[in-house]
Amino acid sequence: METSQREIDLRKDYRNSDRIRSLVEAIKAETKGIELPLHVMEFCGGHTHSIMKFGIDQLLEGIVRFVHGPGCPVCVMPMGRIDLALELAKDPRVILCSYGDLLRVPGSGRKNLLNLRAEGSDVRMVYSCLDCLKIARGNPDRKVVFFAIGFETTTPQTAVLIKKAKELGLKNLSVVSNHVITPAAIQHILNAPEIREIGKVRIDAFIGPGHVSVIIGTKPYHYFAEEFQKPVVISGFEPVDVLQSVLMIVRQIRDRRAVVENQYGRFVSYEGNVKAQRLVADVFELRKEFEWRGLGNIPYSALKINLRYKEYDAEERFRVSLPEPKEHPACICGKVIRGVAVPTDCKLFGKVCTPSNPLGSCMVSSEGACAAYFKYRRELVNV
Ligand code: SF4
Repeated sequence: METSQREIDLRKDYRNSDRIRSLVEAIKAETKGIELPLHVMEFCGGHTHSIMKFGIDQLLEGIVRFVHGPGCPVCVMPMGRIDLALELAKDPRVILCSYGDLLRVPGSGRKNLLNLRAEGSDVRMVYSCLDCLKIARGNPDRKVVFFAIGFETTTPQTAVLIKKAKELGLKNLSVVSNHVITPAAIQHILNAPEIREIGKVRIDAFIGPGHVSVIIGTKPYHYFAEEFQKPVVISGFEPVDVLQSVLMIVRQIRDRRAVVENQYGRFVSYEGNVKAQRLVADVFELRKEFEWRGLGNIPYSALKINLRYKEYDAEERFRVSLPEPKEHPACICGKVIRGVAVPTDCKLFGKVCTPSNPLGSCMVSSEGACAAYFKYRRELVNV
């Protein structure tokens, strides 16, 4: 994909070293008198990577401790769902399609979808889920299954896929929906005993996800700020974005405020993308419960295809029953996702588990915390 001139100019501006330096100075000056370090959870894996890549955690050492959140769609996919994808891919009638990262996540038997492809299963990586329409039309005697993952950012595209399949009368295309919802996960984290009661994991504020908020807007976060008295700042991904967001958080904490603020106003509005929200509401409904890796069962935290589009629901078409999933016993992805451990706490990190041989989902995904530490901080554990 080509980068536009506007994006190049924006990037230069938002990576400008003078701006970065003066923001760091402002943060240092304005935290005087505040108990440090502040514990700020960045929900989204994209922010985790920016923080590591640009050394923001090192620039703010002693001032802010970043707690990495569960906002990486591949990382939070429970092993049982990966096993389901693998089982579907083994069916010789099926062409299983999904996005790149998911194909590398190992299931209970340590195999991933790419291993199955090498053994003869028809597994295809797609850049856009709409590619599945072409695959289905080109293979009328096969059953094309799109294994859909993602937060609110990718759900509208899956909704378009299902609506188009219906319009075209395609009978050989269906979707496994694993789409998950950000506000439900934030609420779950804030209600977790280790955060609310025990205080084991301190969270003073949130850096809210940028891409998700383009779709859902800033509206759903007001509840958290009020109910849990935590500042939430929706942020962009460049270093100046993240530092401006931290400064906004610092000012709220200093002034004893807890509100939602929007640093990413160039893309995010209060209402979000209403057209995309309507599209999603037309095709999906809330699941009563959904298992998240590391967070357990969270009620009303994911979407399933609704009755109007039932014939496109792969879970209805292929009723697969699977044994209990088995996590790798030494992988601590669950703790990393909950923010109670960092990747370098894992004894497999960088030695046995690497991006080319990932044992857990957090090392697979381009948004995973283990992958970020491996890429930018592996000197911490001498690997
Ligand atoms: Fe799991 Fe690998 Fe991360 Fe360890 S380093 S927590 S094994 S993904």
